[in-house]
Amino acid sequence: MPLFADVLLPLSVSTPYRYAVPDALTTRVVAGTRVLVPVRRRKAVGVVRAIGSEPPATGTQREILAAPDAEPALSPALLRLGEWLSNYYGCPAGLSVRALLPGALWGGRAARVDGPPERSERTITLVHSLPSLLERERAFARSPRRRAAYEALEALGGTAPVRHLVAQLKLGPPVLAGLVRQGLARLDRVAAPRDPFSDLAVAPPPALTADQRRAMQEILESPVETPVLIEGVTGSGKTLVYLEVLRSVVAAGRGAILLVPEIALTPQTVARVRGVFGDDVAVLHSGLSDAERADAWRALRQGQKRVAVGARSAIFAPVQRLAVVVVDEEHESSYKQGTAPRYHARDVAVARGRIEGARVLFGSATPSLELLHQVGLGKVRRVELPRRVGDRPLPPVEVVDLRSASRVPEAGSVPWSEPLDRAVREALERKEQVILLLNRRGFASFVQCPTCGTVPGCPRCAISLTVHSTPSALRCHYCGHEESLSATCKSCGAATTRMRGLGTQQLEHFLALRFPAARIARMDLDTTSTKWSHHRILERVASGEVDVLLGTQMIAKGLDFPGVTVVGVVDADTALHLPDFRGAERTFQLVAQVAGRAGRGPAGGRVVVQTRSPDHHALRAAAAHSVAAFAAAELPLRTPPHPPYPPHVGLIRFVALGKTETAAAARATRVAEWLRRANVERLGGALTVLGPAACPIARLHGRWRAHVLVKSAETRVLGRVMRAWRAQGRGAGLIVVDRDPVSLL
Ligand code: ADP
Ligand code: ZN
Repeated sequence: MPLFADVLLPLSVSTPYRYAVPDALTTRVVAGTRVLVPVRRRKAVGVVRAIGSEPPATGTQREILAAPDAEPALSPALLRLGEWLSNYYGCPAGLSVRALLPGALWGGRAARVDGPPERSERTITLVHSLPSLLERERAFARSPRRRAAYEALEALGGTAPVRHLVAQLKLGPPVLAGLVRQGLARLDRVAAPRDPFSDLAVAPPPALTADQRRAMQEILESPVETPVLIEGVTGSGKTLVYLEVLRSVVAAGRGAILLVPEIALTPQTVARVRGVFGDDVAVLHSGLSDAERADAWRALRQGQKRVAVGARSAIFAPVQRLAVVVVDEEHESSYKQGTAPRYHARDVAVARGRIEGARVLFGSATPSLELLHQVGLGKVRRVELPRRVGDRPLPPVEVVDLRSASRVPEAGSVPWSEPLDRAVREALERKEQVILLLNRRGFASFVQCPTCGTVPGCPRCAISLTVHSTPSALRCHYCGHEESLSATCKSCGAATTRMRGLGTQQLEHFLALRFPAARIARMDLDTTSTKWSHHRILERVASGEVDVLLGTQMIAKGLDFPGVTVVGVVDADTALHLPDFRGAERTFQLVAQVAGRAGRGPAGGRVVVQTRSPDHHALRAAAAHSVAAFAAAELPLRTPPHPPYPPHVGLIRFVALGKTETAAAARATRVAEWLRRANVERLGGALTVLGPAACPIARLHGRWRAHVLVKSAETRVLGRVMRAWRAQGRGAGLIVVDRDPVSLL
């Protein structure tokens, strides 16, 4: 009997194409097999979804051309996971299946096993440092461009590809040559970017503390099908618990996945895993070439390696006999994928665990409210690590009220209080390290009363209103509510001011003047655009070459530097008043996490947080290092009589794009009308539809953006919305659908 295969191509299509299976391939072609098929006049790689005896309904019968692999690329479990992705996120089956395999296995490049030869590259490296401001002024008295080049290189960790400096930072080759002539830098030609994880030194893991042993026990005793949250304060040694669990799994001949938020930012965790598992682990980092990634994938698929470590996409690693999936820093928003399928690795982990009978383990010092809600419902079991290793105290947090604290006069527009100034100065005098956090520059400005700290919010949506100048008004970016811009505060009558975030560069400049002897490193999007720049900056901090590490949220993550005694949050309000219902949650997590970087060594530590809202529950809870206090205050604010938000309801966001503002708005209006009609006619009014409204980031990559938000307490109704939307197939490419969005900007 002739057989036919339904083949999914990695395209934006929901239905597979049906091909005849030639006799020679009948034993090899099963569900999950990678096949080469003709598509119009081309050939393409696809994956077989199912085999049957039904010929295609229409058109000519075409045959599978080849099946290159000895065994199916996708296990039945991963195929099912792909289906779950499509259903849950409303994404075409082709795009879901595409996410399951590395790019090299989909295309022409798959044929080439070794990958392209590495190109060599010219780099420039600083060889002489000018640590003080004074030396710098002398050296660059007549060449400000050269100084800019020097400082850019320094911020990039001391070395960078010439190409990057010329292309991204517009530094001409003559300027770089000048640095070399001056004896400050050296030009090199290097063969390939090195794998920064290959030579990390690792000490053998220490014995578990009593708390870690108890946590381990509780995890192993809990039923496999119930996910576990390890809620452990910063520095409580969660990583060692993961490693022990992984070790028990590997010892039993089974496999594991460890997800970390951003692999470039977690060299310490990766080093610890390598230290325990050596060659048994595949580290799936962004520096791998296509061919290397495909090799790592094959080694896992064939069971040669049993542990996969990587960022969100490692959730699809073809680990054999999967027994456990660990999601470290579960609250991190980088677990959400920004293109279709817009999955959240935390939720995919649960789905995969269910399909494969694997245990799912989450870890965080500041768990997401979604997960805490699940704990409350008894669907996730919580295991606590309430103390730091070695009984080190959590650092005391001082909240400085920017409305009344005395400021350092020279700071100008930089909010720099006397208490923070003193803390930094004292740490530097003692030769200790300092971390300063400054949030991403606010892209949306809000109005705040400098006297009482009040920020006007939307009465319907409970988010901050954004200032607009043409026409002059305050607007809500969820529902479109608008009110006039008042010059005085509604709660106290004082004059209000427009607030906008301060940039890291501005702060760096001020710090260099204020502490001329300090060696300052800046870590933000500008200084980390090359592949391993995070890594180099962090290495310099670890080896004591940096006194002050200044940066955006990326410095708040998992770093373990015992030399850091002072952590300062320069302006906690930027995150607090983002037009996002998670503003308070983000602020709590950020402040608690960055505070957790202080006092990890014997010298102890302290934290200074500057704000104009010192009584806000997010800051109070962060200052007390209390997840429980934060959740107790925040969860009730997301449920009636307040406007309901996740985790009490599910959320879907539709973003309409357009060449003009009106086109985007009109498209969003049609989506909102479609949703409101469906709600009345078919969904029994179970939805709340908000909008349309302009997105807080109203224009991105040259396209205008407007959005519509849909909320419902009934998961099944949201599932129906996703299916109905996919079925009517409108707005492809111009309307982005994001279920469980983590960003509403
Ligand atoms: P967390 O991720 O919970 O913030 P880490 O896993 O980074 O904490 O551990 C904090 C520090 O404690 C690390 O330097 C780690 O090496 C150390 N540590 C962890 N467990 C132990 C242990 N059992 N004995 C000694 N030191 C430990
Ligand atoms: Zn509103």
